[in-house]
Amino acid sequence: MIESYDPLVVGRRVRELRSAVGLTLSDLAGRLGRAPSHLSMVENGKRELRLGELHAVAGALGVDVADLLSQAPRSRRAQLEIALERAQRSPLFTSLGLAPLAVRKTLPDQAIETVLALLSELEKVHEQRAATPEQARRANTSLRAEMRRRGNHLAELETTAATLLAAVDYTGGPLSQRVVADLAGHLGFTIHHVGDLPASTRSLTDLEGRRIYLPRQSEAGRDPRSTLLQALAGAVLEHRPPEDYESFLRQRVESNYLAGALLVPQATAVPLLKSAKERRELSVEDLRDAYAVTYETAAHRFTNLATEHLGIPVHFLKVHESGTIAKAYENDDVRFPSDPLGTVEGQLVCRFWAARRVFAVEDRFSPYHQLTDKPGGTYWCTSSIQTTGRGAFSLSVGTSFPHAKWFRGMDADQRFTSTCPDENCCRTPPPALAQRWAGRALPSPRLNASLFATLPTAPSMTSASPPGVDTTDAYRFLERHSGGGRP
Ligand SMILES: [Zn+2]
Repeated sequence: MIESYDPLVVGRRVRELRSAVGLTLSDLAGRLGRAPSHLSMVENGKRELRLGELHAVAGALGVDVADLLSQAPRSRRAQLEIALERAQRSPLFTSLGLAPLAVRKTLPDQAIETVLALLSELEKVHEQRAATPEQARRANTSLRAEMRRRGNHLAELETTAATLLAAVDYTGGPLSQRVVADLAGHLGFTIHHVGDLPASTRSLTDLEGRRIYLPRQSEAGRDPRSTLLQALAGAVLEHRPPEDYESFLRQRVESNYLAGALLVPQATAVPLLKSAKERRELSVEDLRDAYAVTYETAAHRFTNLATEHLGIPVHFLKVHESGTIAKAYENDDVRFPSDPLGTVEGQLVCRFWAARRVFAVEDRFSPYHQLTDKPGGTYWCTSSIQTTGRGAFSLSVGTSFPHAKWFRGMDADQRFTSTCPDENCCRTPPPALAQRWAGRALPSPRLNASLFATLPTAPSMTSASPPGVDTTDAYRFLERHSGGGRP
């Protein structure tokens, strides 16, 4: 085998040289003692010439072997034909299901050039599309790392929030609908509740006409103030349609943060939290009640302020009832499940963590507290369930054991051990169940609406189910519904 041998280039050159000396395919095939069909395959680049044949062909055509093997096509036309041939054999062209363009002498060079340019553009589009999920994941991972470095605290946005609140004479306590409306007016916006807002949008801002469109009815489980404040935040922060995934994610984090900082202002929340810490009575519920916000907003604000102002490292988890992570943040070294690229959204949380245990608790009104012994140490966690239009989610705030003493409910009587990511912790079904159902079940995953959960993740080679499916749950379900007996 000759290393630099390109069958297509060599084949074209053979055809060109053969035509130049006025030989037909059969003529040359005859001189070589081969069938014309064989030579035709060679000329079309579908078969390689053996070393001996190469010498024979070169001899018959009156050229050197090196001349046949030269990678440089003789003419612009030959170059175009080779490029077209190659493009039409590509997986992209094949996937289009088009009949290949036959390369005839009558085909103008310009036609070939145009087809090549179109195919090359199409390939670029495909490459960009294919690159998006991984790019999105990397952008997400790096943004998470940045927020972790900053203790989930954005000082400049806290200042922006304080300035805005001062402008509308906010004095403390829950931010009323009225003050929110004043804020919109102060920023020069009018608010319009409409019935035909596109289903894919939460709000729509007309930057030119300074109009903010909101739906007539707010989504179940969502604070209508948040929707408006996030829209205002986007305008205040001068967000423009994002150019790439990174800016899209950053804008989301920023407008979310600013809306939270307006609902639970740092100036009044920090003294409240500090005094609670002194009394060892820190609680997310109290923050929620003091500002009349959702548990999620309170938990989010707690993580914004806890490290910066209270010196407490924390983690935050929003987990769908299916067990998959919708949102997560940590700077207390708790180890979240993650894919090889560092994405945690869409990953299944350990069954023994508070974020999942809380779903089994009947009383959904009292705060749930739990101690969990994890491979990296013991963690204290408080969880609450919030039901939305997209299902039930658990919202958890936790910290490493040495900091648990500042929280109300630190003397949790619930204690569990988790050895995840060890497969034997909770991912591998109990042996009896596995023996009964392995190979006899085909669960179909329910992907939740989180941004990343719908992106394809590499399936675990040891799992019996697609990513996002809890095998144990699937088997238990079958166990119950099949009466437990063998077929
Ligand atoms: Zn586990």
